[in-house]
Amino acid sequence: MSFTSKVKDEICSATDMPACCYHAMTYGLLLCGRSFNSTSMMLVTEHEGTAAAYSKAVGKITGAAPAIKCSDSGKYSVSVAKKADRLKVLDFYGVSEKMVGVRINRSNFADECCYSAFIRGAFLACATMADPAKSYQLDFIVPYLHLSDDMLKLMQELEITAKMVRRKGSYVIYFKSSEAIEDMLMLLGAQNAALEIMQVKIEKDMRNKINRKVNFETANIDRSIDAAQSQLAAIRKLRSSGKFDSLSQDLRELAQLREQYPENSLKELGNMLSVSLSRSGVYHRLNKIVSLAEAEE
Ligand SMILES: [Zn+2]
Repeated sequence: MSFTSKVKDEICSATDMPACCYHAMTYGLLLCGRSFNSTSMMLVTEHEGTAAAYSKAVGKITGAAPAIKCSDSGKYSVSVAKKADRLKVLDFYGVSEKMVGVRINRSNFADECCYSAFIRGAFLACATMADPAKSYQLDFIVPYLHLSDDMLKLMQELEITAKMVRRKGSYVIYFKSSEAIEDMLMLLGAQNAALEIMQVKIEKDMRNKINRKVNFETANIDRSIDAAQSQLAAIRKLRSSGKFDSLSQDLRELAQLREQYPENSLKELGNMLSVSLSRSGVYHRLNKIVSLAEAEE
């Protein structure tokens, strides 16, 4: 199931809503559908629950719920077929038959609670959302410029900042930051979806931390291999110059172990010595060997 469908399921599952908000939500569904006027009133959606909500809401106003049709491509469409019914719906929301351009008529909102209900309906009708595991993106694809302006304004009043861009003849109100999307989902009443985004963020953060740690450790291994190479070079040099035998017993023993075990860590070498030595003790002795070899030059 797409993330969009998950969010829409969650919105549709909210049943206890005051009547004022239910009307406002229906208004959002109607306005952001494919068409909303006296000659055509229709919604096309990939989400079955949204089509059902549209049909039920229209039924409450007109007395008969329009049928839902499903196309071969899996899209659901609901259309108010009779002109008389379309006029009833327009009248219910105070839209005159001759009104051109679709705008938000605020007299349909009893209170501020209805603003977010309206946006819930709009989301059902025209929004899509990317899977947050892949990217953060929430788009309202609004068919009319003035309507999208009105919606932006409404969101601003709810302290939600969005951006708008024109895309393929539609006006897209979009959100790209995870915080803004979380806020929007909370406003829509989709708490579970909001929690899922937070979870995804925590997991991404953990993965980044682990990657950083792995990189750090790999870099350390590289550094110790480099160090062993220069220690071995120093020992070879001391051998060829004949100075090796004049090294102290402690240094000689360690140098021989290093030659024998070029890949061992300092700690391991320390444990192999006849009198075991700490990591930093081994480090200092090996440095001594390297600086003696350098003094040869
Ligand atoms: Zn309300």
